[in-house]
Amino acid sequence: MFNDKKIYIMGMARSGYEAAKLLVQYGNEIVITDGKEQDLEQVSELESLGIQVIITPHQENYLNETFDYVIKNPGIRFDTPCIEKAGELGIKVINEVELAFHFLPKNTHIIAVTGANGKTTTTTLIYEFLRAMGLPVHLGGNIGFPLCSLIQSIKEDDYLVLEVSAQQLHDMDDFKTEVSVLTNLTPVHLDFFGTYEYYQSMKKRIFNHHDTQQLAIINMDDETEMKLIQDISSAKQYFSLQQKTDVYLKENAIYYHDEKVIDTKDIRVQGKHNYQNIMCAILATKRFGISNDVIKEVLTQFAGVEHRMEFVSKIHGREFYNDSKATNVKSTEIALSSFQKPVILLLGGLDRGHSFLDLKDDMTYVTHVICYGESKFRIQEFCDDIEMDCNVVNTLEEAVKVAYHLSEEGDVILLSPACASWDQYQCFEDRGNEFKRVIDTLE
Ligand code: ADP
Repeated sequence: MFNDKKIYIMGMARSGYEAAKLLVQYGNEIVITDGKEQDLEQVSELESLGIQVIITPHQENYLNETFDYVIKNPGIRFDTPCIEKAGELGIKVINEVELAFHFLPKNTHIIAVTGANGKTTTTTLIYEFLRAMGLPVHLGGNIGFPLCSLIQSIKEDDYLVLEVSAQQLHDMDDFKTEVSVLTNLTPVHLDFFGTYEYYQSMKKRIFNHHDTQQLAIINMDDETEMKLIQDISSAKQYFSLQQKTDVYLKENAIYYHDEKVIDTKDIRVQGKHNYQNIMCAILATKRFGISNDVIKEVLTQFAGVEHRMEFVSKIHGREFYNDSKATNVKSTEIALSSFQKPVILLLGGLDRGHSFLDLKDDMTYVTHVICYGESKFRIQEFCDDIEMDCNVVNTLEEAVKVAYHLSEEGDVILLSPACASWDQYQCFEDRGNEFKRVIDTLE
């Protein structure tokens, strides 16, 4: 399918770069374009392989009817001039995951995870479970390793766990999994998709081409999801925090049918949302024969994915948690609902003008807020309105130090900022790393 073709890659980044390197090995002629300057070393590497790299604000000018495929970066909107032109010219638009899918060895066990929240954690848990079973497993997709970069190392019958975003599903046609997980649905990314219905229809594509041989893992507590999956052809298994089903929570333990798998007190990650992620991972791996002992072994160790309610350390009885990935109020609400002890909350970052009021009901255990960054004065106003103690500082470093100074033994100090990081950092990972660096300096 992808031999001796002419291929236009729109958007370089990591996935475009990896797609180009894969395709060039199969005699394809490749043009790769991007609107922004790219890493010069990578550009010269691609050029040395005979790939044409064009940096231009007018990517559409370089696309014409001689191309067979466009490989689009998932972050690029489908109504940009270049993609519209591809449509007019009748050129098929796909993305890097769909491309890589066609290069996978026969019988790869593909397990894909999508949903509004919990994708990375669930994907990682499934990977950890399969690894603990001693199976040959690879981790990729939206989680940071483009699938094209893994193709050389995946062998027949290997396991592949992929995090897949709605943006990626938009341009995937043939992609088919053995197991698909839909964690939950909430109206996010509507600026990209236009309507919630359209976003949902993209999520539904994770079940494409399924029949009863393939498995769909479904959140029984999510009404929207239950409606959406009514007419899919997959075999279905369900998880619930509220009622007995294939995997469920009962009396502070997780059950698989009638077997108790683990008591929640033995699970290292906090919060009901994480129990949901765990339940998805249990269902996905029971299919491959995981034992409850292996599940327990992983869950007593697994401390969460970096920057997502990550337990950092305990200093003089104060526990530090890094939830830098909480870039919106909803995520901070979920983080707060995980604690039943005093919390000093670090809030702040890019000011999008959004309201913090929704946090109010989840702040029962919060004793103090420290706010910093661009949104600090608006957070201060919010704290004044709800009569919450609040300190205003400029930087995260100061915030950590003030929080530590104010804290008492038994307190949690939580970075769950409810704002994007871009006012002071390149990305939420940099912010989380800074948080951990400052904690390291505390005595
Ligand atoms: P994603 O990859 O979908 O962004 P992550 O696993 O990275 O999800 O988690 C990001 C944040 O989303 C977490 O810090 C937590 O606040 C929230 N979250 C995680 N899992 C769930 C879930 N199952 N339901 C709701 N929110 C969740």
